[in-house]
Amino acid sequence: MILILVPDTRLDSPEYKQLLGHLANFSGISTRVHTEVGTEQTLTEIYLIGNTKVLSIEDVNSLPCVDRVVRVSEEYRVLGRHKNDDRPTHFDYNGVRFGQDTLNVFAGLCAVDTIEHVEMMMKALRDQGQVCTRMGAYKPRTSPYSFQGHGKTCLPYVFDVAGKYGIKVIAMEITHESHLEEIRNALYQTGNATGVMLQIGTRNTQNFELLKIVGRQQNFPVLIKRGFGITLDESLNAAEYLASEGNRKVVFGLRGMKTNMGDPHRNFVDFSHVPVVRRLTRMPVCVDPSHSVGTRASSPDGILDVMHVTAQGVIAGANMVLVDFHPAPSKALVDGPQALLMKELPQFLEDIQIAREAYEKRVALTARYREI
Ligand code: PEP
Ligand code: MN
Repeated sequence: MILILVPDTRLDSPEYKQLLGHLANFSGISTRVHTEVGTEQTLTEIYLIGNTKVLSIEDVNSLPCVDRVVRVSEEYRVLGRHKNDDRPTHFDYNGVRFGQDTLNVFAGLCAVDTIEHVEMMMKALRDQGQVCTRMGAYKPRTSPYSFQGHGKTCLPYVFDVAGKYGIKVIAMEITHESHLEEIRNALYQTGNATGVMLQIGTRNTQNFELLKIVGRQQNFPVLIKRGFGITLDESLNAAEYLASEGNRKVVFGLRGMKTNMGDPHRNFVDFSHVPVVRRLTRMPVCVDPSHSVGTRASSPDGILDVMHVTAQGVIAGANMVLVDFHPAPSKALVDGPQALLMKELPQFLEDIQIAREAYEKRVALTARYREI
């Protein structure tokens, strides 16, 4: 059960102390307090953990400071979408809103290789009015002999260049807790020129210790990718690890499943799960067309498979697109074969716009038929 307190309730007020006194009388029920400091107000929620079935919503609702009460199912307690749950489905980070009703494109380099490529990418994004990108510095590779990413050495120039071109959020995978500190330091060094959305890759979806560490910090939002060989439920529980430790700024990323059934795509594209994740949870949903498709193949209509699946995700309500671009794919150190070309950026963005408008029309159409 979640008790949502009246906005701006002070934790040192007599009413709040009275509330805690009442809660202490519930036997076999422990509490966990979560405070979210927003730009306009501070919201406090108290989680009651234990046998809450014996409590009546009306009784709990009448306690001091309590604004609303939500009875949660066992699953995805914090991030889940529960009955009568009107808690927000968005968060703001560095001036950018991420929600189940917004759409942000993160086009960029799979892996940072040279400062020149970083600059070409970010300049192209700025020219197209984009404020987000992806830049891999720490790359989890199948072979230990493959390029592992430039790591912390590239961070200062990546952040500086981002600042120069007005990029507000960079999605960047981390594979170890030490990377968090390296990113923090580099941001500080560059005068917080930009912001970072930490990415938990598909190979680390169930790295629970990493999830706990990333979940314990609330500065950076997190994009967690679906595990490529586990169930959706297992991946959503992994996301819940982040939230249960305190970080609710979580985006869930679909990136395809590992099975030969998806051949000739690199992974079996799972974007039909966009509406499912939006229904089960309050997380914005990201699609990664590059790592799911993995090639630059196109169909007889001339449209690249990467663009087709992007449109499929967006027309189903996706809230974020993470996609590989490269100014010279043949020189890319990671995933060149799936990268889109710089000249394809305007087309890609326009194609997304078409799909988004179609999605909005579908929502309006459904609302109209519901009224009949
Ligand atoms: C990536 O986005 O660079 C990446 C490695 O993705 P995934 O973890 O989905 O393979
Ligand atoms: Mn990649």
